[in-house]
Amino acid sequence: MEAANLIISSSSSPINAKPVIEITQEEEAKHGLAGFGRACFPDNFIFGTASAAYQYEGAANEGGRGPSIWDTFTHQRPGKISDGSNADVGIDFYHQFKRKTLKHNLFPPNVKYNRERPKLPREGNNQGSDFCDYAELCFWEFGDRVKHWITLNEPVTFSQNGYVTGIHAPGRGSSSSLEPMNGDPATEPYLVSHNLLLAHAVAVQLYRQKFQECQKGVIGITLLSHWMVPQSNSSSDCNAAQRALDFMFGWYMEPLTRGDYPGSMRKIVRNRLPEFTETESEMVKGSFDFIGINYYTANYVADASSSSSLASHYSTTGKLSYATDPMVHYSTEQNGVSIGPKANSYWLHVHPQGFYDLLVYTKEKYNNPLIYITENGVDELNDEKLTIKEARVDKLRLSYHLHHLRYLLDAIRDGVNVKGYFQWSLLDNFEWNEGFSSRFGMIYVDYKDRYLTRYPKESALWFMNFLKKDA
Ligand code: BGC
Repeated sequence: MEAANLIISSSSSPINAKPVIEITQEEEAKHGLAGFGRACFPDNFIFGTASAAYQYEGAANEGGRGPSIWDTFTHQRPGKISDGSNADVGIDFYHQFKRKTLKHNLFPPNVKYNRERPKLPREGNNQGSDFCDYAELCFWEFGDRVKHWITLNEPVTFSQNGYVTGIHAPGRGSSSSLEPMNGDPATEPYLVSHNLLLAHAVAVQLYRQKFQECQKGVIGITLLSHWMVPQSNSSSDCNAAQRALDFMFGWYMEPLTRGDYPGSMRKIVRNRLPEFTETESEMVKGSFDFIGINYYTANYVADASSSSSLASHYSTTGKLSYATDPMVHYSTEQNGVSIGPKANSYWLHVHPQGFYDLLVYTKEKYNNPLIYITENGVDELNDEKLTIKEARVDKLRLSYHLHHLRYLLDAIRDGVNVKGYFQWSLLDNFEWNEGFSSRFGMIYVDYKDRYLTRYPKESALWFMNFLKKDA
């Protein structure tokens, strides 16, 4: 299986350090941050960090591992990765995992399928059943130890980056007019997501019918969503923000809870949006025990449709695409003020309030499902000029998690049913199209060192102390 979430035991960490939280008095007053720690959360709440096989493991040709679509993509099109790198070696997690697991007393992994789909001998319209064979093998092999299964990680990223902008494997679509277009961004992302939803639902059905009763695990899916803030109070901008959310989150949440895509998508995408048969719709509806949510950032959204919106969309856009279908304009500024501090990734501005808003929205709109926060994190540039000591000072990350956790607690207190929080990511790792130029880890990896030695950043020490805090 392709990805693992690791739960850190707070009691056995070898690192001993003082908390390094630096918060202003205003922040402390506003959020009641003094004494903020694990004990503020419900007793059975799980904390952890997330990782993913292709981004971490390396050992590309060992242990019977076959190539995934990411191996092919990075080798055939290295120009698509900002530093031309690949994860053949990754951060050598495959070799270092066992030793570290024993040493640091990590709990067993929980598994989700990220985007590194294995290259299967049979390609074609057989994805659902191939996926199901793959899932069944995993349930058989690991179900005695794995009690939380996530079928898919972020179908939206897979569909959008893989089939609209082409910045991720398999690289269909195009992100600039200079790049030749392969594929069809008007139809392929919708078809891909449709097949992913069906493959997910079949895997859940299989787990429920053959494994769940004796293995006593739970199964869900992880969705990524940004929070969408209307650019103004006008009803057109408010509707635009709702449409943007429908195209990112509702695209999956509506079929999972209601058995069909959002009305706004049906209205705009029309016959490019696949239909569910009645049986499929019934199978997809309710096909989760929990929803995993990955939250990183928020956008301002303005209406980009004209008064005769649909007609003009179909007549003037030229080439239709998932990218323009929501008919919105995204921005990170309102009246010249940023929605939040910018991280290294161009798409990531820090906006913790959006985390709370997305969770409350999910509770209210989708009947308060059980939620695990499967990813939440921020990156900095891999600045080669910095010494290791300097690079370990990651104040932005520390404050990012502090504030997101505080808003998460507010959401829980307001009745959102969240049972776990996994930070992305334990270690610096291969950040897809950004290669090793971006660092998302709480633990620094020295890429210049042949042993890829790890050093905790300030945020890791803070998180450890947060987990230790009883009151
Ligand atoms: C993905 C990770 C990725 C992270 C930062 C998440 O959407 O699941 O694989 O590294 O975002 O981009």
